[in-house]
Amino acid sequence: MKSDRSVGLTPASRLRREEAQNPTTPEGRIAFFVGLAQIPDQLREGDRLNVQADVQTVLGWSDAEAKKISIEEIASTKQRVLEELGKVAAANALNIKIGRHEDLPFASILLDPELVRSVALQVVPGHGIHAGGPLRPALLFTLFEALGRIRNPDYIRRCLAHDCARIFFAEHGNQFFCTPRCANREASWRFREAKKKPKKTANPTAGRGSRRARVVQGSKG
Ligand SMILES: [Zn+2]
Repeated sequence: MKSDRSVGLTPASRLRREEAQNPTTPEGRIAFFVGLAQIPDQLREGDRLNVQADVQTVLGWSDAEAKKISIEEIASTKQRVLEELGKVAAANALNIKIGRHEDLPFASILLDPELVRSVALQVVPGHGIHAGGPLRPALLFTLFEALGRIRNPDYIRRCLAHDCARIFFAEHGNQFFCTPRCANREASWRFREAKKKPKKTANPTAGRGSRRARVVQGSKG
């Protein structure tokens, strides 16, 4: 029975949540990029997410470098981020279907040599690789670098709710919806859809020993 999605987090999930909130870890960077990709429309100055400050933190840029962080360039890079994360999520969905959770889903995503050439790379203790240079390649390089280092790349997924399809970063292996809200909405939607369909008639040729189907009533509470 897999109905434990809302109960307390396991220690591993708690650790993952902490890492995802720390923008100096690969997990935290991926969480940032997933959040960036989730913003539905064009970014504007002073948006609900303080995107420019977040970008500075994720890139580990100094205040002087941060002057290059324009909201227009973030907005134009966002589409590419969404595409790349979408590829990873699609590969993960396939892996989950065929039962190969462990495979690196992005083996086919190669770092574009042009991209690597246009960033100024530097190893910074406590931060990992610092990508300087123009904003767009720096962001994309940081995304790819984090993808290569996170422990659970298979947790980058697309919400399975029929009307959502958002990319999200799962907190544990059994999370298939972006939010509990989506999970609940989808469950009641599927329940209603199943009721609409004509009931399957019991198979009259069922073998001996077949038990009468029990109607499962909705759970109490
Ligand atoms: Zn969703």
